[in-house]
Amino acid sequence: MSRLVMKFGGTSVADLERIRRVARLVNAEVQAGHQVAVVVSAMSGKTNELVAWTDGAGAAAAGLAMSDDEYDTVVASGEQVTAGLLAMTLRNMGVPARSWMGWQIPIIADDAHGRARIEDIPPEKLSAAVDSGEVAVIAGFQGVTRSGRIATLGRGGSDTSAVAIAAALRAERCDIYTDVDGVYTTDPRIESKARRLSKISFEEMLEMASLGAKVLQTRSVELAMAQKMPIRVLSSFVEPGEAPGQGTIVCDEEEIVEKRIVSGVAYSRDEAKISLFGLPDHPGVSSEIFGRLADANVNVDMIVQSHARVADTANMEFTVGKRDAQRAMDIVRAAKDEIGFDDVKCDEEVSKVSVIGVGMRSHTGVAKTMFAALADKGVNIQVISTSEIKISVLIEEAYTELAVRALHAAYGLDTL
Ligand code: ADP
Ligand code: ASP
Ligand code: MG
Repeated sequence: MSRLVMKFGGTSVADLERIRRVARLVNAEVQAGHQVAVVVSAMSGKTNELVAWTDGAGAAAAGLAMSDDEYDTVVASGEQVTAGLLAMTLRNMGVPARSWMGWQIPIIADDAHGRARIEDIPPEKLSAAVDSGEVAVIAGFQGVTRSGRIATLGRGGSDTSAVAIAAALRAERCDIYTDVDGVYTTDPRIESKARRLSKISFEEMLEMASLGAKVLQTRSVELAMAQKMPIRVLSSFVEPGEAPGQGTIVCDEEEIVEKRIVSGVAYSRDEAKISLFGLPDHPGVSSEIFGRLADANVNVDMIVQSHARVADTANMEFTVGKRDAQRAMDIVRAAKDEIGFDDVKCDEEVSKVSVIGVGMRSHTGVAKTMFAALADKGVNIQVISTSEIKISVLIEEAYTELAVRALHAAYGLDTL
């Protein structure tokens, strides 16, 4: 009998009516003869609310100091509610089901609270449950550390829970149900001309996700790629009796016949640019700066260095996530004498826009099209970075939508 993992995101389980809709979709797969494990997120908005209890302004005003492990205990609770409600709804429909928390399976995670990684999922208990014909309804986003504490997998982490469960159960496929009916050429919320892709390669999806397309968590794609687990992204918003459509298959590049030069455009507003002026232009300076940031676990993304007007000095710009901006500034400022710069500035009003496509490997002129399209709209490029299958530019945040739409048109994605 084939096994299937179905994952439902926050908007898909936002209330009891939607949970009933989810239960019908699950039941349809059970009736089709699959053994089914379901992974659920918390109701939409719930995790944000729980986060705010622990590290929001209210918590700060009440003098509540953060502890990473208890943060996880609080924020993981949203998924417990939806897992119980879905199991109950399935039982009411006559479908045998039970809920599973991360610690009951167990989904063993490391102890990097708030961004933990799954280390192991012993499959025996879940396998036995689905073998018995019971639907396993699993709380996504959470695992348990080897010392028995609850750990969460980072925002959007139930996608990763789903892929990891699919791999542990040796499922045929992992179906990710969400509020859009597939992976689009860009975020359909900001470009109405975005088109659904019937297939996308793991590599392109990995770039899309890590460059800001939040439809799948980056780690879930990484894991699917490593485990060769096909993912299908599709909509849970279907009427009773209606099939959910084809969605998008995320698979190996070899399975895609029609290769495009550019498959998608992604954007991220979670960027901050730090500029250092008047650095000494001699060996070891970059190592001084980035060594300190690395030691403090600050992830640096784009970097450019240029000669300054004054002889033997240079300027340097680099980007970090908005959340790390203040910390990065503190680290750099504290080492002013050792690094030896004149001035440092931080700009949080920036965003990163990227074009992604495996066809870039074998085509020239892709960057030229990008730069021309942005110039045509008067969008100034602050930093550029490239890899084999993507080009990213840093621009002023206010131009994000304009840039995404211009690039979407420039690569012919509007008329795909
Ligand atoms: P869920 O709660 O189901 O996990 P998310 O909100 O995490 O859903 O992800 C779905 C959202 O991702 C969509 O509503 C859409 O706005 C956004 N998104 C961003 N880029 C893309 C893209 N290229 N294709 C599809 N959706 C995208
Ligand atoms: N509920 C969690 C979040 O909002 C996990 C998820 O939705 O994937 O980040
Ligand atoms: Mg999500």
